[in-house]
Amino acid sequence: MPEALINQLADIVGNAGLRTGNDDTASFLTDWHGQYHGQALAVVMPETTAQVANIMAFADVNDIVVVPQGGNTGFMGGATPDADGRTILLSLRRMNRIREIDATNMSMTVEAGCVLQSLHEETEKQGLYFPLKLAAKGSCTIGGNLGTNAGGLNVVRYGTTRELTLGLEVVLMGGRVLNMLSGLRKDNTGYDLRNLFVGSEGTLGVITAATMKLFPQPAARATAFAEVRDVEAAVALLHRLQAASGGGVEAFELIPADILHVLFHHFPNIPQPLATRGKMNVLMEIASTNPASGIADDTGQSPLRTIIEETLGAALEDGLVLDATIAASEAQRQALWDVRETAPESHKMSAGVARSDISLPQSALAPFYDEMVAGIRAIDPNLWICGYGHIGDGNLHFNLIADEKSNADFDSKKVDLYELLYEKVAKYNGSISAEHGIGQTKRAQLAKVKSPEIMDVMRAIKASIDPKNLMNPGKVV
Ligand SMILES: Cc1cc2nc3c(=O)[nH]c(=O)nc-3n(C[C@H](O)[C@H](O)[C@H](O)COP(=O)(O)OP(=O)(O)OC[C@H]3O[C@@H](n4cnc5c(N)ncnc54)[C@H](O)[C@@H]3O)c2cc1C
Repeated sequence: MPEALINQLADIVGNAGLRTGNDDTASFLTDWHGQYHGQALAVVMPETTAQVANIMAFADVNDIVVVPQGGNTGFMGGATPDADGRTILLSLRRMNRIREIDATNMSMTVEAGCVLQSLHEETEKQGLYFPLKLAAKGSCTIGGNLGTNAGGLNVVRYGTTRELTLGLEVVLMGGRVLNMLSGLRKDNTGYDLRNLFVGSEGTLGVITAATMKLFPQPAARATAFAEVRDVEAAVALLHRLQAASGGGVEAFELIPADILHVLFHHFPNIPQPLATRGKMNVLMEIASTNPASGIADDTGQSPLRTIIEETLGAALEDGLVLDATIAASEAQRQALWDVRETAPESHKMSAGVARSDISLPQSALAPFYDEMVAGIRAIDPNLWICGYGHIGDGNLHFNLIADEKSNADFDSKKVDLYELLYEKVAKYNGSISAEHGIGQTKRAQLAKVKSPEIMDVMRAIKASIDPKNLMNPGKVV
């Protein structure tokens, strides 16, 4: 980048907010999977909304692309620039202040660069709860969560990031600031711009701050890992547990045997939840804000534990559940969660992986799963079939893992495998992206699954807000 332009950026953010050397910028220019590599003129790290506005005015005048980035944990290459290098990588990491926690309104206003886990910790100090939970919580930022409309582990009870959002502050290309920060639960004043920017993956503007909903802190939890007969039984168990707990299911995750195989291969020290590795399993958690529900009676049972135990007991008698364990301590609970939360890392370490992130109506999950297994086996009988994840909200990561020895020609089969997946998703009226977004990875597929009319409207919205196509081009539309 010409030195004069660099100097202008330095004037906006100071030298501490500017990185230009290859060594300093490398970690920002490759995605979490190491699949995409880009180039940038500079990594720019503003500290205030005014600085973001100035950067956006500078980019507009000089026709420079801006790619917003938070924790760089996204799975769709959305935060990685292209290889042209005429890009400012705008890292929001230094905009990490909590502007306000309003305990009376049950809301908080936070800057985009706040790391998700820090929001859990700060709200917990006030006895409040921010329920967005994902395994990347120590690195991902709320700005990235909003950019992708992240889902995670607790959607079954609290909804996606979009449903947790009350208001936004957004900076547009050119530098105009849209202050839509609001703690209102009801506000029908014109088009819902907030929901337009949530999930727009940095293609419409830069989210600089947000007002998010808070909830009472759960006071008690019960967590169990159960081997279930099949996917149909898992869905039936979910509904039984919802009914028994009064809608208290916080998380409900499907974990097939192949997930356990791949996980224990790479992480042999994680304890195996059950004595034998069941073909299909579920990790479930219920929670209550009533402290009494966690207090054990004379028999050592708490009301919450009784709910989960009785539900599993009845399901065992009915043949839905084949074996189960209930965590008896926080350490045991954490060990069960380690199984689920370490799964993405074990896939990254495998010889080959075909990832996906689909959602389906609950009623379609079982036939979809069975048809997928049969179809995959016909293409490659040796793949590890890791269709797992947030079954509580109909969302599965149907990942296929290749073994170095038995799947040497895996890459050549990926086209057929994805074709099978998308055909089955379409058959059951599902979505090709439940929570990870579109980014660069699924851009071509999006245009295939959406009608020309819908694509036209999306492109018209993009063109009206960002007519020069400088906001994160090559992503989504
Ligand atoms: C181990 C692991 C587990 C995961 N589990 C889940 C899960 O359960 N559920 C789930 O949904 N995702 C999950 N993810 C994916 C990822 O963590 C989420 O997509 C997360 O929301 C990304 O946040 P980030 O701050 O890292 O965003 P980035 O990766 O930096 O960016 C993601 C997208 O958002 C845009 N963006 C970032 N910040 C802004 C901003 N301030 N304004 C506008 N656009 C912006 C970027 O341009 C990009 O398009 C997981 C990732 C890992 C590594």
